[in-house]
Amino acid sequence: MKDPLKPGIFKIVSRQAAARNVRAYVIGGYVRDHFLKRPCTDIDIVVEGNGMELASDVASVLKVNATLFKNFGTAMLRYRGLEIEFVGARKESYSTDSRKPVVENGTVEDDQKRRDFTINAMAFSLQQEDYGSLTDPFNGLNDLHDKVIRTPLDPDKTFSDDPLRMIRAIRFAAQLEFTIDNTAFNSIQRNADRIQIVSQERITTELQKIMASRKPSAGFYLLEKSGLLAIILPQVALLQGVETMEGKGHKENFSHTMEVLDNVASMTDNIWLRWAALLHDIGKPSTRHFDKETGWTFHGHDFVGSKMIPGIFRQLRLPLGEEMKYVRKLVQLHLRPIALVNNVSDSGARRLLFEAGEDIDDLMLLCRADITSKNPMTVRHHLGNFEQVSKKLIQVEEKDAIRNFQPPISGEIIMKTYNLPPCREVGLIKDHIKEAILDGKIGNNYEEALDLMKQRAAELGISEAGA
Ligand code: ATP
Ligand code: MG
Repeated sequence: MKDPLKPGIFKIVSRQAAARNVRAYVIGGYVRDHFLKRPCTDIDIVVEGNGMELASDVASVLKVNATLFKNFGTAMLRYRGLEIEFVGARKESYSTDSRKPVVENGTVEDDQKRRDFTINAMAFSLQQEDYGSLTDPFNGLNDLHDKVIRTPLDPDKTFSDDPLRMIRAIRFAAQLEFTIDNTAFNSIQRNADRIQIVSQERITTELQKIMASRKPSAGFYLLEKSGLLAIILPQVALLQGVETMEGKGHKENFSHTMEVLDNVASMTDNIWLRWAALLHDIGKPSTRHFDKETGWTFHGHDFVGSKMIPGIFRQLRLPLGEEMKYVRKLVQLHLRPIALVNNVSDSGARRLLFEAGEDIDDLMLLCRADITSKNPMTVRHHLGNFEQVSKKLIQVEEKDAIRNFQPPISGEIIMKTYNLPPCREVGLIKDHIKEAILDGKIGNNYEEALDLMKQRAAELGISEAGA
């Protein structure tokens, strides 16, 4: 195995620690990732003594700046693509109503006890006498080997001290494809309510890492089963369950959503497309309706769902700009490609291309991922239809170039021709031209659009400037 302490930085830290007569260790994620053979550029150094002083010494040897966080007693420096954090070893105790701990100086062992999981509590010594030796008081190495997430202390204590650790447990399970030890998982179920005291930003950071996993559903199933999902993302938890009327049940929307999410994740790393997959059917619970003739319907769930997106993004403190608008748009349009199956007209295809714009390929990817069924025949049938729509879109796009379509007659041209200020009539004429092109009544070109402009203006009783 590669020497984990090869980067020169470790020797330098070791020497400076000896000079100050303090003990220093590499701890946490870097040690874990070394054994997992995962690349890691975040290095945490724990010091039995003052972390900021040691960081300053190291920084001056390296001729870089150390950023000191005096309130926390920590320091950070960057060197050759590595981010190195120094903290003094701590002994912590928490009060029950907050996650702000009472902190005292401690030994590396005290510090290992306040770590979240056994696999994150291992340390390499940087002392000259036993340089590189592993300190692993909770058998983290075994748990790494068995692929188990376990807390160093009684999980009830670990999780109530900092309830974010419950979501971190699930995040590591999803990200590393590990299982959570039973005792720990039972404790998460018991303590799920305590997640309420954790800031949304910290929760969302972990959610994003679950989302970025190879199979995000693994994380969401655990969030659901633990009871955490109902607290942090109740809209998604509500997808769960099947109601039966007159012997008819509907599709179980949570497991369907999980399947779609994993399908999308297998095709793209685009995190926002993954969010669109998670939320594509979010309007279903509130639009669910049973009709004696047609059975279960979810009419308008695409529209209702898209309306819910800004609220969900705000609640999760996700960005409200382009990312939110993109997810909202995909949720709103997610039924449209399949709806075209029954009527693959040029104009239907043109309208979809126009509304989806640049995001048409992502929409098609989502739509393809949305084809799930226990019956392989059904899946094959829908995929066949989907291919038809796909082909049609490509044909129409090649012919009409609608994707980033701007009508060939602009508002400016209309205003200039008729000597009009910006007004309602300009909009009416412009829209009329756009609609005619999308409907295929005229071609997407200047000449035909100009003729139509004149015709529409005449109908509205507008005459040309100077005429
Ligand atoms: P990654 O950086 O890959 O997401 P990581 O394990 O390095 O994973 P960080 O959040 O960077 O995670 O934390 C670094 C180390 O600090 C962890 O390995 C763990 O030992 C400790 N740690 C982080 N957050 C907590 C917490 N909430 N409770 C206890 N220990 C924590
Ligand atoms: Mg890290």
